[in-house]
Amino acid sequence: MTNPWTIEDAEELYGVKRWGAGYFSIGENGSIQIAPNHRQPDVTIDMKEVVDEIIAEGIQLPAVIRFHDILRSQVEILNETFAKTIADANYEGRYVGVFPIKVNQMREVVEEIIDAGEPYDYGLEAGSKPELMAVLAYNENPRALTILNGYKDEDYLTLALLGRQLRRKIIIVIEKFSELEMLIPLSKKLGVEPIIGLRSKMMVRSSGKWAGSSGERAKFGLSITEILNIIELLKQENMLHCAKLLHFHIGSQLADIRKIKEAVSEGARLYAKLIQMGVELEYLDIGGGLGIDYDGTSSTTDSSRNYSTEEYVADVVYGVKQICDLENVPHPNLVSESGRAITAHHSCVVTNIVGEIKNTGAKFDISASSGEHILVSNMRELVNAADTMHPQERYNDAASFKQSAYEAFKLGILSLEEMAKLDTMYWQILTEIHHSLDRESFVFQELEELEDMLASQYLCNFSIFQSAADTWAIGQVLPIVPITRLDERPAVRCSIVDITCDSDGKLSKYIEGTEISDNIPMHTLRKGEEYHVGMFLTGAYQDVMGDMHNLFGRLTEVHIYSHDDEPGDFYIEEVVPGTSAEKVLETMQYNTDFMAKTVKKCIDREVRKGTIAPREGVRWTDYYEKCLAGSTYLKV
Ligand SMILES: *Cc1c(COP(=O)(O)O)cnc(C)c1O
Repeated sequence: MTNPWTIEDAEELYGVKRWGAGYFSIGENGSIQIAPNHRQPDVTIDMKEVVDEIIAEGIQLPAVIRFHDILRSQVEILNETFAKTIADANYEGRYVGVFPIKVNQMREVVEEIIDAGEPYDYGLEAGSKPELMAVLAYNENPRALTILNGYKDEDYLTLALLGRQLRRKIIIVIEKFSELEMLIPLSKKLGVEPIIGLRSKMMVRSSGKWAGSSGERAKFGLSITEILNIIELLKQENMLHCAKLLHFHIGSQLADIRKIKEAVSEGARLYAKLIQMGVELEYLDIGGGLGIDYDGTSSTTDSSRNYSTEEYVADVVYGVKQICDLENVPHPNLVSESGRAITAHHSCVVTNIVGEIKNTGAKFDISASSGEHILVSNMRELVNAADTMHPQERYNDAASFKQSAYEAFKLGILSLEEMAKLDTMYWQILTEIHHSLDRESFVFQELEELEDMLASQYLCNFSIFQSAADTWAIGQVLPIVPITRLDERPAVRCSIVDITCDSDGKLSKYIEGTEISDNIPMHTLRKGEEYHVGMFLTGAYQDVMGDMHNLFGRLTEVHIYSHDDEPGDFYIEEVVPGTSAEKVLETMQYNTDFMAKTVKKCIDREVRKGTIAPREGVRWTDYYEKCLAGSTYLKV
């Protein structure tokens, strides 16, 4: 007898609290709960109520759901942790962070971050010309920084100088010597003095997926020799006082705190030496990299991190202080460019399972017929041998009969009916073996293989390439969890496949307890009842990196604010419709008016021929146009 299933079991299996960072948990009613505001942990939103309301409003899934309170909370937590640590450490600089908008450039996201960060003079970082155009318009706080990274041309630099004219604290971070050679004459010509940052190429090698961001072969940054040459040039031009910031960025999703400490030591030492040379630096910018515990293991795997935000901040503040005190230089103001850590939690994708693909699904009548092939009778004997054979032996025999049957079929010896019988019996045997095994105490070397073979595929109404690009590109783990029924034992092992016609369109890594698994237990699908799943922590990069594979396009977005006077403690503030079929086609240079006209012309021709009735022709024409204006995802 197995024990009854509890919420704690579901929590253990899906690890919601481990990756949820205090925002996500499972309620007693078996659905996901969100406490979006770190200052009001008692205000919780039931995800099922959110989904019910979305559906009641006629919004089609899949949808991106944004919890704006989580975004605000993350901005507050980072800034307040720095402020508190700085006070505790008697550190003499302040923290003036920036949000790198490449992590999520959605206007609503950037606006919310700017608004929540206002009391802390939290600024923005841009890495390209269009991003600079956005931050020029959105970061109006004259005390907040605007940091400009990435390779720059004359327009990029000119726009930055425009920002100086608008009294913004815009810092142009020099990535290459030639950028400075361009900047100096430009600033003299326009009569605008720049604030200059220097990006150092770090010697410390980070590990993980972004290891290439540091080390001598890094794409960005200046070597020590180049930094000294730049200082020389600035001196000659009487512009040394413009150099105010030292910057480094050793990679994203830094899993190991030791690498962060190393980078901080290296950066702080360089800062101190430059100060001693007479460079009037005011800021030390430690870049991004603050990690997210996507898989909930608190480890140094690529999808986790072995430290908390508090530890990260403490290591930065105390690390810089120690070196500055040793070198007898003033403490710099600290800048960080955390993107992932600010945005990852605030959005998720909610969608439905639209079908199940199952090897064991189809059944054929397996009763014996006269004159059937010996392989069929052999397999039938195996079906009846459950009590007499060792599971391993039975499994091996079944696999071998199946292989022989396949060979025989190719030679024309077995009929289609016989193949269907064999197949039905084969899957029946495998299923029985699987059920008879006790996962805990019985070691069966093919067990994992068996589990994989028997796992169903749940067909999920979304595109990996649009909504979870990193799961495909770099093997990132993202939590995927049913929204409801978590008080019920999940009885089906399955993997999640998307609706693109690409066989790469599937998730291949799942959180199962503290392990990463090839498949995941979910609940049995019920006829006439939708099964909703959420893919979480998609707010950083995933939200904005999606591509046009299969022309699915952007998802509908639902923006949620928490409010304790509202029923369910939340309200939908805005719905942003997803990309219509028409819009995606137009980005691929199709002329949809022309397409509609062409199809109409073809329909009219059939009407004239009499193969389509006139009324029916009008209906087909309207239908085609309606589909053009409609959603690209599956309607259920
Ligand atoms: C991408 C990037 C960041 C953001 O890194 P996260 O790991 O998301 O915090 C910060 N700074 C620079 C220069 C970057 O390229």
